[in-house]
Amino acid sequence: MVPGQQTARAPGDTGGETIERAYRPVLGGVRHLSDHETAPGNGTVVDLLCGMNHVVGSRRAAKRIYDCSACDEVRGERGGQA
Ligand SMILES: [Zn+2]
Repeated sequence: MVPGQQTARAPGDTGGETIERAYRPVLGGVRHLSDHETAPGNGTVVDLLCGMNHVVGSRRAAKRIYDCSACDEVRGERGGQA
């Protein structure tokens, strides 16, 4: 993938405006989903949809390699709501 280049959306991906506003921490290259719209303050423990949690500010921002499939699945079960 070339930085700055638009990537084609996967089939079935309707754009997910709601999800684009969600705080999605990248942990070890895996991008997770949270219930937060924006990043809470440092030190806040954020529950991720897949059941993991993440302490905001505990890690350096990482480059996203792929999305957490478990988080995506939970999002799907919620009918696309983040
Ligand atoms: Zn996850």
